[in-house]
Amino acid sequence: MAYDWDRLAPPRSLREFEAHWSRRGDPHSFSGVWRFHALLPFASREDCVTIGEGQTLLQRSDRIARYVGLNPGRLFLQYEGMNPSGSFKDNGMSAAFTHARLTEAKKAACASTGNTSASLALYCAVTRLMRAVIFVGSGKIAYGKLSQALDYGALTVQIAGDFDDAMRRVKEVSRTLGIYLVNSLNPFRLEGQKTIMFRVLEALGWEVPEWIIVPGGNLGNSSAFGKAFRELLELGLIPRAPRLAVINATGANTLYDLFENQGLRWNGGRPDPDLIRKYYEDMDRRGRRAETIASAIEINRPVNLTKCLQALDTCRGVVREVTDQEILDAKAQVGAGGLGCEPASAATVAGLKRLAAEGVVGPDERVVCILTGHQLKDPTATVAYHTTDQDMFDRVLGSRGVHRATFANRAVSVADDLNEIIRAIELYG
Ligand SMILES: *Cc1c(COP(=O)(O)O)cnc(C)c1O
Repeated sequence: MAYDWDRLAPPRSLREFEAHWSRRGDPHSFSGVWRFHALLPFASREDCVTIGEGQTLLQRSDRIARYVGLNPGRLFLQYEGMNPSGSFKDNGMSAAFTHARLTEAKKAACASTGNTSASLALYCAVTRLMRAVIFVGSGKIAYGKLSQALDYGALTVQIAGDFDDAMRRVKEVSRTLGIYLVNSLNPFRLEGQKTIMFRVLEALGWEVPEWIIVPGGNLGNSSAFGKAFRELLELGLIPRAPRLAVINATGANTLYDLFENQGLRWNGGRPDPDLIRKYYEDMDRRGRRAETIASAIEINRPVNLTKCLQALDTCRGVVREVTDQEILDAKAQVGAGGLGCEPASAATVAGLKRLAAEGVVGPDERVVCILTGHQLKDPTATVAYHTTDQDMFDRVLGSRGVHRATFANRAVSVADDLNEIIRAIELYG
C-alpha cells in the first residue's frame, strides 16, 4: 500500500503527535494506533475502528541487558502484551476492521496460531461489526489463546493439521464464501502494526535506536516495521533507519535458512523465485513440519516472506535462529526482570544474546526487543519450565529438545505444619 503523500497532510515533525496526549478523551487520540492516523491515512479518521489498542510500554531493563551482554541503559523491552487481547495483533486488527467496515463485510476469518484469532474474536465481540470464524490447527494452540476465542464467542474450527494447513484452508473458504480475511497477508493489518515502531520512537523521545529485534513467524510485524521506517525516511521525519534483527525458532527457520544460508535477498524487488520454490518443494518432499514451543512462530511458510526481505533491505537486517532451550531460558529472564512474555516473544532476547556474543550488536548500542505477547498466553510452557514434576517437564518440554530449566523457580513442598512452613521460608526466602 503506497500513499501519495503530496496529496495528504503528513506531519512535518514527529513531535506533532504529542498534541494527542492532551486529548485522550477522544477515542482516536487515546488509541495508540489512531493517534498516528496521519501516517496510515487509508480511511477517514472518523471511520477508524478502535477498542483502546496500543496502550503499551517501553520498559528499560538493565537485568536483561546484563543477561544478553549489553551495558546498563542500553536495552528496552517494548511490551505489546498490554493490548486489549494481550498481543501486538490488536494494532493490526483495528486497521483491518476499519477496512472491513468500509467493505460492509458480515463475517471475518483467520487461520491462527492463537493470537490473531483472540484479537479477531475480541474485536468482533466488542464492536459487533462482524461474526468471527477462526481456523486453528489441532492441538497447536496455547490454552490462554484458545480460551479467549471461546470466551469471546467466535466460531472456532479446529482443522486436523497444523498452522500451514489451516492457512491454506482459510484462504479457500474465504474465497468461496466471500468472508473477509484478516490474516497478516491482509495489507491493512501491516498498516496498523507500523504504529508499534512509532510508539517505540515516541518512548525514546523520537530518537532512533540502533537495533529493533522482533520474532519472525508469518513475518507481518517485521514487514510492517520496514515499511514504517521507509515511509518515515521518505517523509524526512527520521535521519536513518534502525537495524532490524528477525529471530526464528530453529524448528521453524525458513527465513533464516533462505536469507542467511542461501543468500536470498530483496534484490530491488526481484527476489529469486526459483530459490524459494525449490526450498518449499524440498520441504514438502521431506514432509518437514514446523516444530517449536514458541507456537506463535511455529510457521514454515511465512506469508509475508518477500515483504520481509524488503524490510531487511531497508534496515540492513540480519536473521538468527534460536533453540527452544534458549527461548525458555530467555523467557524466564524476562519474567524475572521484566513484565513477562510468552515463548515466541522471548526469542528476541535469546536472539539478541547470540548477536551480542557474535559482536554483531555492540554492548553500547541501543536495542529494543519487541515482546509480542502477554505472559499469561501460554501458562503450560511456563509451569512446565518451573515445575518439580519431571513427567510434566518431559511431556511438554523434553519432547522439544529442552533438557534443563536453567532459571527455574521451583515451588517448595511442605507439610501442612506451621513449623515446617516457617522453616521453609527461612531456608529459601
Ligand atoms: C503473531 C505473533 C508472532 C509472529 O509475528 P509475525 O508478524 O507473524 O512474524 C510473534 N509473537 C507473538 C506473540 C505473536 O502473536
